[in-house]
Amino acid sequence: MRAAINGELASVAEKFTTCVMCGLCAAVCEVQIKPHRVGMYARRLTGAFYPKEATGLLHRIEEVRSGKYASAWDRLLSADDAALSDYCRSEEK
Ligand code: SF4
Repeated sequence: MRAAINGELASVAEKFTTCVMCGLCAAVCEVQIKPHRVGMYARRLTGAFYPKEATGLLHRIEEVRSGKYASAWDRLLSADDAALSDYCRSEEK
């Protein structure tokens, strides 16, 4: 919260990347604020105004364009209901 008070939004956003927004920190916060909401705010501001290059996304787009998933996509589109149902059950395990 000190970093947030100092306006270090990128630092706050980074600290909250693993936050699951459970809110438990709010229950024990000494100054009775909701730290996870501050973290979410910092993450949103950082993403909106200081976005990093989405290297993972760009890599995946290149994979799609190269045809890496073409056969899987064809299999999926040609599957009947029974095959899709089997596939979904296999993914649940
Ligand atoms: S909401 Fe608070 S306690 Fe829950 S994961 Fe995020 S920082 Fe941790």
